[in-house]
Parts: sequence; C-alpha cells; structure tokens
Amino acid sequence: MKNALIFGLTGQDGSYLADLLLKKGYNVFGTFRRTSHKCFERLEELKIFEQVTEIKADLADYGSIQTAIKQSEPDEIYNLAAQSFVGASFQQPILTSDITGLGVLRVLEAVRENVPDTKFYQASSSEMFGDYPGIKNEKSPFIPRSPYGTAKVFAHHITNHYREAYNIFACCGILFNHESPLRGLEFVTRKITWTLAKIKLKKQEKLHLGNINAKRDWGFAGDYVEAMWMMLQQKNPDDYVVATGKSYSVEEFLTIASEYAGLEDWHNFVEIDESMMRPSDIKDLVGDNSKIKEKTGWSPKTSFEELVKKMVDHDIEYLKLHPLSL
Ligand code: NDP
Ligand code: GDP
Repeated sequence: MKNALIFGLTGQDGSYLADLLLKKGYNVFGTFRRTSHKCFERLEELKIFEQVTEIKADLADYGSIQTAIKQSEPDEIYNLAAQSFVGASFQQPILTSDITGLGVLRVLEAVRENVPDTKFYQASSSEMFGDYPGIKNEKSPFIPRSPYGTAKVFAHHITNHYREAYNIFACCGILFNHESPLRGLEFVTRKITWTLAKIKLKKQEKLHLGNINAKRDWGFAGDYVEAMWMMLQQKNPDDYVVATGKSYSVEEFLTIASEYAGLEDWHNFVEIDESMMRPSDIKDLVGDNSKIKEKTGWSPKTSFEELVKKMVDHDIEYLKLHPLSL
C-alpha cells in the first residue's frame, strides 16, 4: 500500500484527490491549518473524512512541513496548498508570494533533506501565461498579470530547478481553471451558481459581478485530479498543460446556468459592479492538452454544459437541504 501526502487537503482539489487516491488503495495523509471554524466540510461532503489522516501544517512554517513529511513517510507528495484566489492576491501580495511562491520552496527543501526519492507534484497555473495570445502549451512564455500568477511562476521554476539540480521526481501540472460543486464561493462560477440558487429560492434578488467578458477554459476538478495522479505514474518527471481546449466567457456561463436553473433573463437581476474589476485581468485563457493526452492518455470527461448543470443542481439541492445557509 502506498502513502500519499496532500498539502492543501481541505481545498477543492485536495478533497477530490484524496477521494481518488483512497479509491486507488492509497493510505492518504493530508494537511490542514488550524482555523476558528470547521474546515473539513468538503471531505465530509465526499464522506471520506474518517478515511484520511489529517496533519496540522502551514506552508509558512518549515518545521510543520517537515513533521508532516516525517509522519506520513510518503511515496507521493501533492502540493496543492496556496493562497489560490487571484482577486485576493492584489490585496495581499506579500502573503500570496510567501505562501504560493516561497511556500513551495519550503516543501521542496524538506523533500530534498528528508525524502529525496519521493515523487512530488506542484500545482502550477494557467495564470502564469497572463495575456500571452492564443492557445497555450508547455512552451508558451510566462507573462503573469497578478501577484498570484507571479508567485506561481516562481514556484514553477523552482520546482523545475529541484528536478534538474537534485534529480527529484518533480512534475508541474499547469492546470487551467477547474470548477465543481466544491469550488470556493468567491470564484466566479460558484458565485454564480450559488447566487442563482438563492435567487431561485427567493432568498436573494441581485447578483453582482465584475468583468463578464473574461473568457476561461473551464474543466471539472474531478477530472483534473486524475491528471495529477497520472503525471506521477509516468516513467520520467515532466510538466503538462491540463485543459479542455475551449474557452467560454463569464457571460456564457451565466446564460447557460440561468437558463438551466429556470430563471428569467439574467439581465433583470445581474448588476455589473465596477468595484469588482481587477487592477489587471486576463482576457482569454485556453490551453492545448495534446501533450498530456499523448503521453499519459488523460483527457477531460466532463463537458462545459455538464459542469454548469452539475454545479447548479448541487447548489439548489444543497440550499434546500440546508436552509440555515440561506
Ligand atoms: P483551494 O483554495 O480550494 O485550496 C487551497 C488549499 O490550500 C486549502 O486546503 C487551503 O487551506 C490551503 N492553504 C492555504 N494557505 C495555506 C497555508 N499557508 N499553508 C497550508 N495550506 C494552505 O484551491 P484549489 O483546490 O482550487 O486549487 C488547488 C491548487 O491548484 C492551488 O495551489 C491553486 O492555486 C492551484 N490551481 C487551481 C486552479 C483551479 O482552477 N482550481 C487552476 C490552477 C491552479 P484552508 O482550507 O485552510 O484555506
Ligand atoms: P481566476 O481565473 O483564477 O481569476 O478565477 P475567477 O473565477 O476568480 O475569475 C475568472 C474571471 O471572472 C476573471 O476574469 C474575473 O475578473 C471574472 N469575474 C467577473 N466577475 C467576477 C466576480 O464577481 N468574482 C470573481 N471571482 N471573478 C469575476
């Protein structure tokens, strides 16, 4: 039985990945931060909380990273922990750089010093490409447009450096946006489906949004964690773009979601709020998934329409069952 350690267990991807690895027969360990409120809701929703060993660790704290690694004796480490919200990175650029950038170096140092033969996955991001035009692949240049994207570029390069200099089996998955019913409520897709559910249940009247012309290549998180695992099963470590190859605007997401929820024309309840525009934003992010398809056989299983419906159905059902969340 293999041991896996997930930094960022409590997040969207951490929860789906833990579920996948348990199904594959792994012993799953994962890190969480002490908070003053419940932080295992996603694991509880997937009904896997009891099957995972939770270890307290913070990417700001080298000692706790080392303890997590020593305690779990991992065959594979997945680093999904980050200040992951681009919007917040404009307000907290130093924290974002420390956790999303330097935090990765802390984990890599702990790997090099303690478990250099362990396989390592780093969660790189399409945000690293910024507004570089056209469909992006592994060779496209990085021109980040946010503190988050800039921190991810550092993390990506330092992971590559540890692979080359110390022969660590380290892979970077350059993942394009991926969503699910477990996506954080501040991200635009989940904000839309959650608010539409409230409007449908007559508990809210308006949905405030920023730049609805932005386009993203949105996939399903459950499909994307499979790509992470597949990368670490290859003979040699490498970096891969993970994407669907098609992008849609926020407006298109909103239109399909509203229609599916059975709501009237969204123009009647959506307000564009200038304060939600970012200091700089990326117009269109779309990725070329040919390399991962060819080398590992991975491909996305869930279509854009299926993803939108999954999220709308979940949020309407969830709010009916948990009226206190309204
Ligand atoms: P989430 O925001 O849902 O999860 C982030 C995780 O990181 C949470 O478990 C969070 O813990 C943890 N975390 C935050 N700060 C720290 C810290 N200081 N120390 C330790 N852990 C910390 O993100 P996703 O699951 O969506 O994304 C996973 C990774 O993939 C992230 O690195 C993200 O940047 C990257 N990524 C995501 C994409 C997407 O579309 N989802 C696209 C490309 C890359 P807590 O619950 O306590 O906040
Ligand atoms: P990101 O691609 O990681 O930044 O994911 P987000 O879901 O946060 O944002 C995707 C796009 O939606 C960005 O271009 C945002 O500017 C745009 N957007 C428009 N309105 C909103 C909003 O109300 N919230 C968020 N988070 N993004 C919005």
